Amino acid sequence: MAKPHVLQVGPYPEWDQTPLDAAFTIHRWWEAADKDAFLAKVGPDIRAIATRGDLGASEAMIAACPRLEMISVFGVGYDSVHLPSCRARGITVSNTPDVLTDDVADLAVAMLLSLVRQVGPAEAWVRSGDWAAKGVPPLTRKVTGTRAGILGLGRIGAAIGRRLQGFGMDISYSARSPKPDAEVWTYIPDAVALAERSDHLFIALAATPETRHIVNARVLQALGPEGTLINISRAANVDETALLDALETGQIAGAALDVFEGEPNLNPRFLTAPNILLQPHHGSGTIETRKAMGKLMRDNLTAHFAGQPLLTPVPL
Ligand code: NAP
Repeated sequence: MAKPHVLQVGPYPEWDQTPLDAAFTIHRWWEAADKDAFLAKVGPDIRAIATRGDLGASEAMIAACPRLEMISVFGVGYDSVHLPSCRARGITVSNTPDVLTDDVADLAVAMLLSLVRQVGPAEAWVRSGDWAAKGVPPLTRKVTGTRAGILGLGRIGAAIGRRLQGFGMDISYSARSPKPDAEVWTYIPDAVALAERSDHLFIALAATPETRHIVNARVLQALGPEGTLINISRAANVDETALLDALETGQIAGAALDVFEGEPNLNPRFLTAPNILLQPHHGSGTIETRKAMGKLMRDNLTAHFAGQPLLTPVPL
């Protein structure tokens, strides 16, 4: 039987590429020198798109594939997939939730501890010889027993909360509705009010048109000069200009960020802003989790072409 034609938007590790090449006729979009000409040539054959959360599938890409049936995303975020086109044409979309939740929550907590306890600067202090020359570095702040706000209590937000409980933290959260499983935590739907009662504000929201720049100058002002911001969700949830202004003027104490507008080419102001911890969007970046994500991405493609329900469909 002929193998279904699949448009692959970006590279995957070899452990995914080999089984993908075996199961499907793969067309490598990212390698094409003239992408429009490539799409015009292969688009009419394409029945599925295999993509990543950071690459998505644009309106033009989807339009160039008139027989497209489904899009399989490697990643939980699907904000870069043009969903209106999918809805209009009945194209199904899958993502890879759950398998990455623990790793992203682990990194979020590592970022909090690293930022507040100044792990990076303290190590630089040792390496530079400052310890011997100047003595101990400046004292840091206590994390255990402080107040955490979690903006977006979905899979990852809840996993962050469970970890923070181990630090005896007073936890509050926002979401579109209160979560019955989180009754020991305080529900505060408004982002400004949540920031006001938080020492550390974690952003774990989905990125949608409604959440764009939900963390704005007012939220940062409410977080205050002792407050820190940790973003492991999507850059679009934060007004980056307001955040940089707040950091540079001491309006908040610090920020730890795994995601940036235009990443990997971030605003150069981030490189010099005070008390900031920068990470290269690698919340899910462990071998174990990336393998699980790849398998789920492939299993969704397989299920689709076997006429079975998708394992992890995106609600459209
Ligand atoms: P999820 O389970 O879908 O949770 C999303 C949360 O956002 C839910 O609590 C939801 O509230 C809330 N939300 C959505 N729209 C809202 C609105 N308008 N106002 C207030 N809250 C709203 O998603 P997840 O799997 O936890 O992923 C969370 C985020 O992490 C996503 O942005 C994803 O792209 C990102 N992510 C980042 C990395 C990384 O490497 N840094 C890796 C994986 C995921 P309700 O439950 O009430 O609907």
